[in-house]
Amino acid sequence: MSVTLADIFAARRAIRGMADGTPLVPSPFMSKAAGHPFLMKLEIAQAIGAFKLRGALNAVASLPADAPGVTCCSTGNHGRALAFAAKARGLRAVVCMSKLVPGAKVAGIRALGAEVRITGLSQDEAALESQRLARDEGLIEVPPFDDPKVIAGQGTIGLEMLEARPDLATILVPLSGGGLAAGVALAAKSVNPAIRVIGVSMDRGAAMQASLAAGHPVEVAEVASLADSLGGGIGLHNRHSFALCRDYLDEVVLVMEEEIRDAMQVLYFEDRIIAEGAATVGLAAILTGRVRADGPTATIITGRNPDMASFTRIMAGKDVQLGDVILKGRRYGA
Ligand SMILES: *Cc1c(COP(=O)(O)O)cnc(C)c1O
Repeated sequence: MSVTLADIFAARRAIRGMADGTPLVPSPFMSKAAGHPFLMKLEIAQAIGAFKLRGALNAVASLPADAPGVTCCSTGNHGRALAFAAKARGLRAVVCMSKLVPGAKVAGIRALGAEVRITGLSQDEAALESQRLARDEGLIEVPPFDDPKVIAGQGTIGLEMLEARPDLATILVPLSGGGLAAGVALAAKSVNPAIRVIGVSMDRGAAMQASLAAGHPVEVAEVASLADSLGGGIGLHNRHSFALCRDYLDEVVLVMEEEIRDAMQVLYFEDRIIAEGAATVGLAAILTGRVRADGPTATIITGRNPDMASFTRIMAGKDVQLGDVILKGRRYGA
């Protein structure tokens, strides 16, 4: 295997004091809905508001001192994480993103001193630009998910969750390129082989789910989603995260945009937490009955960097524009 439990323990040492130790908190409302204790690992408490700092710090820590700088493609949070990690080591960072990435995320990356390149309408096009920069300018690419150091960094979340709650029966992991799911599943199953680890994606443009169903990486059309952080392909030449997700995930379930909206409202109105759509798909899986809890259940609240204008519209029960479709509003509790 390209990533081992030992790599995850090494990552834990590399990120200590900078990106570890986020709280695992109970949700009374979700526990009632699940019929079992329901816990949330609050990666929104990270300095950049998302778990991706773990993987980026671990990857940057492994670079030689004379590295000329780093580059990546990103749906937003990885770019922010890499900008932060590069700044901490005094390295140049260039982040490539598609036009689908919300403005708030782009601004956050610039604020950390990184250079930003906006190119194309998909994560795959942004990836091409990042590869070009690596080729032409000698920058070192730190991929958002398909990288052993990044996967090991994200895996530290799994270790922390099982240390806090060894009795967890199920972990629900928001799933896009699968770096998070691969790391968490590897860590959790190494500690407790009986634990269930389920990936959750949005039903439109779920690249890992389509790839697992096909038995090999496939391309999917990228569409606007409330879970914008879950958009993008897994790469047709995926080397690590696909195989790990195939071997370690028990199942992948999909949730619809309306269900993500409802879960965002539950998290906000019941638990008073601001999070982006991608962070709430685990709640949606339970609230819709797509996953049945079989004991203590946990999910990862992966990020708190939504576009605040759409976030406040959703909470007010107003319609929101998602690309060329309109997602109807619904007032919470109405
Ligand atoms: C990147 C990201 C994910 C998905 O992680 P992958 O490793 O690509 O599967 C989920 N939620 C948020 C907020 C993210 O930024």
